[in-house]
Order: sequence, then structure tokens, then C-alpha cells
Amino acid sequence: MIVMKFGGTSVESAAAIARVAAIVKAREDRHPVVVVSAMGKTTNKLLAIAAAAIKGPREEYLRQIHDLRDFHSREARQVVPLEDRAALDRFLDEHFQELTELAKGLAVLGELTPRSIDAISSYGERLSSFIVTQAFRHSGMETRHLDSRDLIVTDKRHTQAAPLFPQTYARLAATIPPLAAKSVIVMGGFIAASEDGVTTTLGRGGSDFTASIVGAGIGAEEIQIWTDVDGMLTADPTILPGGHRVKTISFAEAAELAYFGAKVLHPATVLPAIEKSIPVLILNSRRPDVPGTRIVAERVHCENAVKSIACKRKITVVNIHSTRMLMAHGFLRRIFEVFDRFETPVDMVATSEVSVSLTIDNPARIEEVLAELRQFAEAETERDQVIVCLVGENIRYTPGVARRVFNALEGINVRMISQGGSLLNISFVVAEKDLRAAIEALHAEFFSELDPAVFERNEAVHA
Ligand code: ASP
Ligand code: MG
Repeated sequence: MIVMKFGGTSVESAAAIARVAAIVKAREDRHPVVVVSAMGKTTNKLLAIAAAAIKGPREEYLRQIHDLRDFHSREARQVVPLEDRAALDRFLDEHFQELTELAKGLAVLGELTPRSIDAISSYGERLSSFIVTQAFRHSGMETRHLDSRDLIVTDKRHTQAAPLFPQTYARLAATIPPLAAKSVIVMGGFIAASEDGVTTTLGRGGSDFTASIVGAGIGAEEIQIWTDVDGMLTADPTILPGGHRVKTISFAEAAELAYFGAKVLHPATVLPAIEKSIPVLILNSRRPDVPGTRIVAERVHCENAVKSIACKRKITVVNIHSTRMLMAHGFLRRIFEVFDRFETPVDMVATSEVSVSLTIDNPARIEEVLAELRQFAEAETERDQVIVCLVGENIRYTPGVARRVFNALEGINVRMISQGGSLLNISFVVAEKDLRAAIEALHAEFFSELDPAVFERNEAVHA
């Protein structure tokens, strides 16, 4: 058995669903268990409907529900055979009727609870998984739909529920293998239920998590995450096109990259798979023949010092300066206490004897933070900064990586430097305006030579 997860863009239209059907069909002999996200931006639209229901007027949210139904109906009709259209219409009628009732209920109450948010946002995956099941049948696959809410058991932290692993694994192991022996299984990602059967969700982007939980629960051979990129690359393609594909990466490296804005995958989501040593593959549903990136539990031998360069943009640097800090204790505690009080997470920190620099990525409450800090220190901010992060297990073993980094960056103003405690990365901060030049220089320095066992050269740009 393999788990194949398709995200929102991979099932955003009839054409996309047809591509998915072909990809799954080509792997039917491996007994796929398919996990799908809501179609396109459906989850956002459902949340907008919930918000509109509270705010009114009635016509507005009813129009939005109507549009969402139209969208699902239009795309589904193209992938569902004529003889199943009546069943499709009945299914859509039923679900959109329920959704309308739910929205009207919210409008009356005038209040949105986490539990009702989950009730509303669950419709995206309930609809998509049904439509994908029909489409698979139409393309000749014996297909069985399972409701994830019967299999994934969570606590009651609505909108961010945590799976109860023993119960969940027991249900998955008892239910799926006998059915997957005969049919392709399709289930919705993201949605689950508490022990007493109330619908919950695993948090935004939760379908990857579902795939990983299912894979771990059934002891899958591998978990395939199908997205719209070729896998992990040596550089963020939106900044430097033509990065090379990383063929194999360790979980620790992938987690580090994910934290630094490589939006391919949230690291926590693959943990259940990694704990059971099940490899996770990142694959491109538009280019299914590209072998993608394989994430494995163990360290991967690599001749290159660095695996990939990631960045986190739109960062604000806060510089705090006080001569009172000299030889005094409790200063850092005071600083962090302020950030804590205003619920502002801090990412990177550098300190010297009389000053502290740190970065935040959410400046929503920065004015309040600054006002507090200025009670006992000078404090100012620099906006439009970027954390650039070089990741690779070899960084800790290879002497001279830092020297190569800062030689390559000659002429670029580096604001802050940190080598993480994990020793898997070197990070530093540059201004947004210097970003492209910095990445280009580093990419040339670290990826001109490539270990062919680990990287696939992108001939197009770097030939
Ligand atoms: N549909 C959910 C979301 O948009 C879950 C997912 O796509 O993974 O957050
Ligand atoms: Mg997603």
C-alpha cells in the first residue's frame, strides 16, 4: 500500500482531477490510499461564508454558497459519468442544503465558535473526496470512499485538533488494508472527529498530516505528497529560478527548510511517517515523471556542504540598545517578557554586551512592544529584511563553511548572523533589496559542483 496525497491545486478543476485519476491509475498495482484536499481555494471560501453569515446581509452569504455550489457542480459534471449525474446532484443538493442551514444558524446566533468553524470548513474535503471517488470510478478504477471522520480520532481542540494516535491507528489498521486489497481508497484530508463523533479539523494545510497519519497507521510502503513543484530545490524558485532538484533529504534537513519558508511541506506533518521510518516523497502532479524529493528518517551522505538555501521574507529586525545592560542580569528576561506579553514570536536573536538584535515575522503589535521596550532601552526597527538560511547536515562537519558564505557575500551588508543550535544551518539577515544578489552568489559558491547521488542538475539554467 502507498498513500498518495493531492493538495487543493491538484484537484482544483475537472482537468486537474482527470490528471490525478491518470496518476493514480498508473500506480493501481501498489494499492493506493488517496487523500485529497478541498478543491482549489474552497476552504478559504467556506471560512468567508462563515464570516459573512455573522456579518450579514443574508443575500451576501447565500450568494457565496450559491457560487461555491456552482463551482463544484460545474467541475464535477465533467468528471462524473452521465449515469451518475443524478446521484451527484442529490449529493450536492444534500450537502449545500446542510451548509445553508448551518450558515443561517450562525447568522441567528451571530457568533462563530471554533466548533462551528470546523463544521463549516469540513465541507471542502467532504465534497472533494466524493467527487474524486466518482471520477476514479469513471476512469475505470474500483474505488471505495471512506469518511475520514470515522477513522481519524482527535481531541476537542477545534480548528487545531490533535490526533489520538492509539485509537486512530487501531481504526486505520483494522479498516483500510482489507479494503485497499480490492479497491483504490479515497478519503478527505484535514477532517476528523472527536471520540464522541463531533467533526474536527487538523489545522490549515492539515491534509499532509492526514496522509502521514494514514501512512503510519497502515504501515504504508511510502507516502507520496503530490503538489505543483518538482520537489525541494537548492534555491527558492521565486527568487532564483533554475535551482537544482534535491533527490534525497533527511527529515531534520527538511524540517529546517520548511521552517524557513520552503512552503512545500510543514515539518510536523510528516512526523508520524518518520517515526515509523516510512519515506515521504514530494512529487509534481503536473510532471508526474519527475522523481521528486525523497525525505528519509536517517542522515543522507552528501559531498556538498549545503543542501539548500531557503529564506524567510518580510522580516522585521528589532534593535535594542542599552548601556544599562552592561554587566547586569535579567535584561534579556525583561526584553523577552515584553514580546511574550504582546504575543509576538521571536525567531532569531543576536546579542552583544550592550545590544540585542532580534527578528519577528509578525509586526502587528510592534508599536506596543516598542513603547514598552523604550521604558528601559533604546529600540528601533528595520523593515523589509530577509532571513537567509543555508541547510545541510554537513555544515557541522565541514570546516570553513562560514568563511565561504561571507566571502561569497562580499559587498552585501549582513545585519545579523546565527548558527543554529542544531548545527544544521547557518542563517543571516540581509535587506530585501540585496536578496537576489545574495542568493545568486551563494548558489554559485555552493552548487557549482553537485554530488550526483543527491542532486539532479537543472541543465536549463546552469548549463
Ligand atoms: N483544505 C485545507 C486547507 O486549505 C487542508 C489542506 O488543504 O491541506 O487548509
Ligand atoms: Mg494544502
